[in-house]
Amino acid sequence: KRDWSLFKRENNITTYKSDIDPIRNWSDYNLIPRDILTRLTIDLGYGKPTPIQMCSLPNILMKNQDFLGVAKTGSGKTLAYLIPIFIKLLKTPSVHNKFRGLILVPTRELAQQIEVEGNKFGVCNLKSIVGGHSLEQINRDLSLDIDHNKEFVLIATPGRLIDCLDMGIVDLKYLEILVLDEADRMIDLGFEEQLDTIYNIIQKTRVATYNNNNLQILMFTATLNGTNISKLAESKLKNPI
Ligand code: ADP
Ligand code: MG
Repeated sequence: KRDWSLFKRENNITTYKSDIDPIRNWSDYNLIPRDILTRLTIDLGYGKPTPIQMCSLPNILMKNQDFLGVAKTGSGKTLAYLIPIFIKLLKTPSVHNKFRGLILVPTRELAQQIEVEGNKFGVCNLKSIVGGHSLEQINRDLSLDIDHNKEFVLIATPGRLIDCLDMGIVDLKYLEILVLDEADRMIDLGFEEQLDTIYNIIQKTRVATYNNNNLQILMFTATLNGTNISKLAESKLKNPI
């Protein structure tokens, strides 16, 4: 235990409500399947997880609980949630090709960046829907280049997603994991009301999945400063780690 607290201090890690130790290496707890491990270490050359990844991986995967991750810009928050999403969805393959993961982001550029970064792993279909594309085009894009043997993860900006939900282009019936990325910027850009709308639609339309997974919500932010970000976390997350 003393050893771990030193390690956490050295890596500038503080955890709340977590009863498992962060990982030090990708292989700890045997969480990561071989193909993802190869991609991380050989293709990307990432020798070890960043501190936020050290915490997010074991906590998101070993606890079926909401998670709030705070780490500065450039600290690897994208993979801190993408890797757990991939592993969680791979572990319980579905029979439908519906969206089981949804990543909400403040900007179209970020959505497209995450789509590219995530698709390089080749384990899930990631598709982004953003403003600037017509709904017809989005509808077409969503069925393009899809490997039907892989799980489907959606990345979206709030406004465009609401349009797609209203038009029935997207449904979130089978959603199991929801990410609010750059939550601080979402507040700065005034997305709170739209997040509420999406959250309510999810609560209303979600059906129990065949494996009875709860909806797990993950929120990531560079800062927790400001009352609005704390309020958002409090209203959207249930007893988060
Ligand atoms: P954030 O979302 O926290 O601002 P990103 O997820 O965009 O940060 O990551 C910043 C950079 O760090 C990216 O280029 C990413 O590929 C790289 N990165 C992510 N994880 C690792 C890692 N474990 N080791 C080295 N670099 C990493
Ligand atoms: Mg980020």
